[in-house]
Amino acid sequence: MFETVIGLEVHVQLNTKTKLFCSCPTSFAQQQNSNTCPTCLALPGALPVVNKEAAVKAMRLGYAINANVNHTSYFDRKSYFYPDSPSAYQITQLTKAIVQKGELFIDLKDGTQKRIGMTQAHLEADAGKNMHEGNYSKVDLNRAGTPLLEIVSDPDMRNSDEAVAFLKKLHATVRYLDISDANMQEGSFRCDVNVSIRPKGQKEFGTRVEIKNINSFRFVAAAIAYEVQRQTEAYEDGVYEKEVNQETRLWNVDEGVTKSMRGKEEAADYRYFPDPDLRPLIVTEEMVTEAKIMPELPDAKVKRYVEELGVKVSDAHVITSDKELAYYFEEMLNHGAVAKTAVTWLTSELLGRLNKSGFNIENSPVNAKTLGVLVAKISDGTISGKGAKELLDYMMENENRDVLAIIDELGLVQVSDDGAILVIIDEILANNQDKVEQYKSGKDKLFGFFVGQTMKASKGSANPSKVNELLKQRLS
Ligand code: ADP
Ligand code: MG
Ligand code: ZN
Repeated sequence: MFETVIGLEVHVQLNTKTKLFCSCPTSFAQQQNSNTCPTCLALPGALPVVNKEAAVKAMRLGYAINANVNHTSYFDRKSYFYPDSPSAYQITQLTKAIVQKGELFIDLKDGTQKRIGMTQAHLEADAGKNMHEGNYSKVDLNRAGTPLLEIVSDPDMRNSDEAVAFLKKLHATVRYLDISDANMQEGSFRCDVNVSIRPKGQKEFGTRVEIKNINSFRFVAAAIAYEVQRQTEAYEDGVYEKEVNQETRLWNVDEGVTKSMRGKEEAADYRYFPDPDLRPLIVTEEMVTEAKIMPELPDAKVKRYVEELGVKVSDAHVITSDKELAYYFEEMLNHGAVAKTAVTWLTSELLGRLNKSGFNIENSPVNAKTLGVLVAKISDGTISGKGAKELLDYMMENENRDVLAIIDELGLVQVSDDGAILVIIDEILANNQDKVEQYKSGKDKLFGFFVGQTMKASKGSANPSKVNELLKQRLS
């Protein structure tokens, strides 16, 4: 029997206004090489200056994961030649990163949490982009020098579920912290997965391979499954030493396999050395204060939702898994929705409809205020659950009109008034004397008939529980 060991490295693109070492904007530019200057073009003599906003954002992650935030850290040069990096080195933090030794608690499917150690998070500059067209290759340096935070975990995960749970938690965390858009498709949240196996009980780790650039949670799980099987078979066939090397592999989406890309470089290959153009990064008190301004994070939200609002743990996890969803939920409560009802209407009714019509919570045609008021109107008996569904269907097509006006317009006001309902009931009973006799002589099933007739006569507007209650009274 084998045990899988996984460690993750995630490159998060920080959402700063300007690049890491110059004042070029990081925003999207139509024109290639327009967001550039002598520094990010690596022209001789241009000097880098560290972006304070990037440092503060890195520190904020550090505080969020209970890490040491180093008040002095250093930048190093990692040499490699590639056309998208005109300086022929990348500025990164090798010897002492700004953030070291933290922890992240991941949420497992059985509802428990597991602690994953965080090795470090360091600042580094992104490269540009090579584009290949026909016989030409072009280089666009708009992205060169964009700040990245590379976040490295300890090898603490033991299966792909844990790896995916880690990525989801980290993804949610950086989004709550508002330090990155963390858009996997657009490449602002890229992960490398390190995988090895070892016989159960063995202390030493096996040889790890690094799988680069996987851009969806689903592919992470698939790549791990493939790699574990490949390594296990090699072990069982007695060719582990030969076939499992410390190397970089790529996930091939089309074939569903990992393929060797290059042997893993040793640190020496990169000729790391301290960047002589950059002084140590020294953190000021002002930066500490700013970095510690922190939103309520998912774990704290789950605790509060469960303990103070009576939300089920599993529901609390769903809602807090994404900050937009959590903020939507809280906004519903601000508009009078009761928490438990709000959970159902948000997670099943709204999300179901959004899913079906290709929307998501951020571009939902029904905003949080509208759904909040709708839920409040169910709780106070103004509309029935059935009427509310009709109302929500209508709202999906007619953006955010006034809920109360539409309740009137669609005739959804539920009649709960005893007098009004009794008038209908008495008429039904008078017109069905024979059935009343049969009911009284023991044919209990007819009760449903009376309920149905009453609801029909009220055109569905009578409060069903009132109808039940009043019918029982009249027939007893
Ligand atoms: P490098 O800088 O060469 O990428 P690191 O020592 O920084 O190497 O490790 C990178 C990642 O690999 C970390 O996330 C770490 O947890 C993980 N890792 C290290 N050893 C193993 C192993 N034997 N199996 C799986 N993952 C590992
Ligand atoms: Mg690495
Ligand atoms: Zn620049």
